[in-house]
Order: sequence, then structure tokens, then C-alpha cells
Amino acid sequence: MEKVYRKFLGDSVSSTIDFKNYFVEYKSEIAKVYGPDGEIGVTHAFSNLIKFTEEQENILAHTCSIDKLDPPNPVEKMDVEPLYTRPELYEKIPAPENCCLRTVQSVLSRSEADQEEIVRASKYRGRKITLSDEHKLLNRDMHASDDVVMTILIYAPYSSVKHYNGKFNKIVDKRPRVSQELLVLGSQTLDVLRDAILCVEDFNDTQGDVSENPFDNDGIHQSRAKYPSAMFYFGNNFYIDTREATCKDYSESIREYGEKNGIVFGETRSMEESFFIDLQLKLGHPYVYRHQGICEHIIVFKNARLIHFYDPRVSHLYPLHEAICPSRARFCNICGSLIAKWCVQDCERLPNDPSYLCSDCFKGYLYKDGKKICQFKAYKFCDAKAIL
Ligand SMILES: [Zn+2]
Ligand SMILES: [Zn+2]
Repeated sequence: MEKVYRKFLGDSVSSTIDFKNYFVEYKSEIAKVYGPDGEIGVTHAFSNLIKFTEEQENILAHTCSIDKLDPPNPVEKMDVEPLYTRPELYEKIPAPENCCLRTVQSVLSRSEADQEEIVRASKYRGRKITLSDEHKLLNRDMHASDDVVMTILIYAPYSSVKHYNGKFNKIVDKRPRVSQELLVLGSQTLDVLRDAILCVEDFNDTQGDVSENPFDNDGIHQSRAKYPSAMFYFGNNFYIDTREATCKDYSESIREYGEKNGIVFGETRSMEESFFIDLQLKLGHPYVYRHQGICEHIIVFKNARLIHFYDPRVSHLYPLHEAICPSRARFCNICGSLIAKWCVQDCERLPNDPSYLCSDCFKGYLYKDGKKICQFKAYKFCDAKAIL
């Protein structure tokens, strides 16, 4: 794994960090400056560190005031109103076609459709912060520096094969896209992360074709309940979910492959007995989460730090979703306004095969007095938008 990714990642990955030792050492250092509870102001922290007098402390606070960042004669903000009222004012100047500069030729060779594709493929598109201030009303049970907070990026599952993009009639690489950003505590076990990762594959219905009796909601048929197996691959070790008797060890087949091909793997441990703080990982390195058989996600540890005074210091809030990448919903093929909840196949009354319908259209268009009015297969459908 490390050998494969090294050539792509370059300097963006840290060296391996032993989080436990690192933060024990770091905490003892900052306790000298910030005090044991870590809740004093920055100016006092400086004072503790350098032994300032009160007068020197005031001079420092005045000299380093954030107000000093204001320039003496700030430039007035540009009036952007003409952009909307007179768009022609800022129209692009067409590139001269007979110019031999490579930059100009490159611009000319790009169609507008290509430019649209570049924007759509950006991995930073539309991430929204979901953290609210509600935690301030809850009872805090942690002091600053009590625990370690790790920021983890969960990527949407993606296939490494190339995808055909019909719209632009060419083959494009589908780039990995961050789907969730989570905060976990070092004192938490890995199974809490497994439970916090929202993937539509965990919410699929396992009953198959239910067209004969689609509105019978007896029993739990979510794939997560039926197939609870999951595995993280961090460092060179496997961490498997063993909380349910039906959990399988996904690392077995990988070990067999490793033995045949001379690849040496580390240990297989259980998620619920492994703590984040005990991990030894590289920040920025792509690790793996696997569940539902073949659904694989890249996981990246973005940073690790001591919990801050201004963080939500309520332990039961973690793992905390800090950001979620909005996805496009699949809307009903009939009304076009509600998110689809049914996938219908082999139906002569519908123009698309498969068709995606909301519950109202599905019931109203394909059933009469609770009976099917024609032959088709119907599967319960869970859209990613419904869970993220
Ligand atoms: Zn998944
Ligand atoms: Zn509908």
C-alpha cells in the first residue's frame, strides 16, 4: 500500500505518528504554558512562558493587536452591482485565433463544456459545515486538552475503473470525492467511527422484488442489520467489527492473497477494543474502510490536536459530523418533485427501465385496491440524499 501511493502523494503525507506518545509529550509541554486545565488566555500563556511583567504584557497585547492588521488607507470595496446590471462590462475578450502563444492555444482548445466539467469534478465543491452552536447549551464534561481530537475525511466509494461520460463523448477519470468530515476523540474506539460513517450501501433493502406486497413493513431488512461485517485497514493492520456473531473477517482473504504474493501484513484486531489514540498513522495518507462486501472508501486522517477551549467539550457528541458534501438526489420519474423511494423494472407502463418513483406515484400509478395492475418488479430504493 505504502509503495503504491508514495509516488502519487509526495510531501503531502506526514511521517508515521505514534499519537499516544506524541500527545503525552506535547501535553506536558503546553501545561507549562497554559496551565493544567488549558483554559487561560493566550496573553497569560505568553506571560507564563517568558515571565513578562504586567506592563510588558500590556505592551505586547497592544503591539500584537489584531487591529494592527488594518492598512492605514484601506481600499474601498469594489461595487459589484455592474456585474449584474451590466454584464457586458466584464465580458470576456475573445482570444485571437492566429496567435501562436501556447497559453492562448490551450484556451482555444477548451470548449465551454470542458470548463464545466472541470468545475463539476472539483473535490472541494459545495462542502457545507453542519456544526451548530447547540452544544453550548449542553453540560460540558471535558476540559481543554483533556482529549485528542482527530479530523477524519471519509471519501465516497468509487471505482478505480474509468467511466464513460456520455455527455462529452469521452472517457474521464472519476475523481475520489470527500463525502463526510468527522471529528473523533482519541479515547474512543474504532467501532464508533464505523457506526458514524453514512453510506447508502448500509441502508439498502435486502428483500429483493417486493412488488406483490410492497407496503408490508414487518421486520428489519436493512443491509446493515443483515451484513454487519466491516473492516478498517490502518497502518498495516486490519481492524474488524466483531460485535455481531454474523460478522465475517474481511482480512482473511487479503492475508491469503498476501501469502501467495509475498506481502506481509500486520495484525488483525477488533475495532471495539482498539482506541484511536493507540494508532500509529500518517496524516494525509489514504487508508481503507470496507463494508457490505465490496463497498470500499478511502479514509484520510486530516489532523490530530488536543481538544480546544472553543471545541464542543461534550464527549457524547463525538464522532461529530463537521462537514458533509451535498449529493444530487434522484427524483421521481413521474412527478419530478419528490425523492425516489422505489426502483421499478420490467414495467411496460413506464418509459424508462429501470424507473425511479416516489411512494405516492408508485402507489397511485401501479396499484389499484392494493393489487398490481401490470407485471413489473419493484425494489425499495434508498437515495444517498436521504441519509446525508
Ligand atoms: Zn460504503
Ligand atoms: Zn412522484
